[in-house]
Amino acid sequence: PPLYKQRYQFIKDLVSKHKPKKVADLGCADCTLLWMLKFCNCIEVLAGLDISENVMKEKIQRSLTVTLHHGSVAYKDPCMLGFDLITCIELIEHLEAAELERFPEVVFGFMAPAMIVISTPNSEFNPLLPGVTRFRHPDHKFEWDRAQFQSWALEVANRYDYTVEFTGLGVPPFRTGDIGFCTQIGVFMRKYPKNSESVKCEDHTEHAYKTVSIPCF
Ligand code: SAM
Repeated sequence: PPLYKQRYQFIKDLVSKHKPKKVADLGCADCTLLWMLKFCNCIEVLAGLDISENVMKEKIQRSLTVTLHHGSVAYKDPCMLGFDLITCIELIEHLEAAELERFPEVVFGFMAPAMIVISTPNSEFNPLLPGVTRFRHPDHKFEWDRAQFQSWALEVANRYDYTVEFTGLGVPPFRTGDIGFCTQIGVFMRKYPKNSESVKCEDHTEHAYKTVSIPCF
């Protein structure tokens, strides 16, 4: 299957394994991943966030709460508190330097779910992709090699008390040498439970996102 489907399947497998009840997808675009996850019976609450309102479509049914929010991962909003799993699939490379700078504090510091999955292109694989000169997509602000992604991820994990494991999808052809996967993935686990005290304070944070679609039952 194509790589984007493998990325969604990777998340579905992780959900089957860890059974999170509340899952949010940041940079959810047209909600394809949310759509797939609605079939996972363990999930009670699903949310999506994207900076582009047009791409989000309301196409979810079933007795499950799905809420879509319009806003940026550079801002904190209390609607993203209390999630068990937060996915950021091919999102970070679309962030401007200032947004990327704020991202760890928003996602790891504030949202602070038990598990976070971040995927991004591995630039070492680019020479194998036909037609790719600088970046894989004109909207990418950067593409990192394994060392760059891993040092960023380890630093963030350390700062916010998470562990991180690296994996990926899309294996290079036989005898290409050590270039890593086409898509690189970091799976972050929070080391300690979040104490209820800090969650309480955050209840007072102002809303930064606009809710664009409300639960359908
Ligand atoms: N996660 C989806 C997937 O894997 O199919 C879509 C990935 S798409 C390449 C990146 C998405 O991130 C776009 O829909 C874009 O609008 C969104 N995005 C870019 N900057 C953002 C930001 N600051 N906050 C939230 N979403 C953002």
